[in-house]
Amino acid sequence: MRAVVLEQPRSAPRFHADWPEPVPAPGEVLVEVEACAVCRTDLHVVDGELPDVRVPIIPGHEVVGRVVRRGEGAVLPEGARVGIHWLGWTDGICAFCEAGQENLCDHARFTGYDRDGGYAELIVVDARFAFPLPEDADALQLAPLMCAGVIGYRAYGFAEDAQRLGLYGFGASAHILLQVARHDGREVYAFTRPGDTEGQSLARELGAVWAGGSDVLPPEPLDAALLFAPVGSLVPAALRAVRKAGVVVCAGIHMSDIPSFPYALLWGERVVRSVANLTRMDTARFLALAPKVPVRSTVKTYPLEEAPRALDDLRSGRVHGAAVLVVRPGR
Ligand SMILES: [Zn+2]
Ligand SMILES: [Zn+2]
Repeated sequence: MRAVVLEQPRSAPRFHADWPEPVPAPGEVLVEVEACAVCRTDLHVVDGELPDVRVPIIPGHEVVGRVVRRGEGAVLPEGARVGIHWLGWTDGICAFCEAGQENLCDHARFTGYDRDGGYAELIVVDARFAFPLPEDADALQLAPLMCAGVIGYRAYGFAEDAQRLGLYGFGASAHILLQVARHDGREVYAFTRPGDTEGQSLARELGAVWAGGSDVLPPEPLDAALLFAPVGSLVPAALRAVRKAGVVVCAGIHMSDIPSFPYALLWGERVVRSVANLTRMDTARFLALAPKVPVRSTVKTYPLEEAPRALDDLRSGRVHGAAVLVVRPGR
């Protein structure tokens, strides 16, 4: 099959025209991939910023496709259209799983990190970790929901009833979440890389009440700030921007070191917290909500072969909205 493979950590992933096809084990299904969105986490995998990357690995965890074969005992029918997300397997028996926090499972396995992902024509998934998707929706629109959408939504939950919501790092997640927050009647303040006027105008078009560089303070103190950019210096910047008892939520899996800052920034019962991974419940809830908003992603498409270029574009801030690999055109 055609696949883009990371063969060594910190190397460029390479396209292969004849990579071996995966075979579904009992409980798994084989899925023919239509599209796979490109997530910042893929960059952290490729760039060696996450520990213990299993190589060779096919990246990609925002997958839309169709079941073409079932392993023994798998619950999904052939022909079903499904989405595949980051959480690929959990043990189901650790203290976190038993407490309903499978995102923190001690033995979790992740798609495109320690299980092969969606930068390929075929992928196998544990059928319990695949999600039914509507037949009539565009694969290019569905793919970014599977992580950018769900992770943003999980982070948004920790902002509770924040009326003035700041989004730092205006990429795929933020541009989807902005639409959800507007749907809920919140005011969104979008912070981009300083000077990224294109990102700022996209934010305003989508309904942000204010958009500016992450180096300036918003016109009003924020009730909560969600950080999607992997930049540690945004933590004190966001603490400066939130009111007393405001919360700063770090939504990414990796971040550069957070610089030291005066305790006065945290004082006033401000909170800094992270969001780790996602649960199947998060994904199911968000997939039910997205068509009601409705979420409409701005998409930049690439053929599968050009996944390395998509990653480069994401790294250098050239993607506004979501980057999506078209694996099977015209579906
Ligand atoms: Zn567990
Ligand atoms: Zn992701």
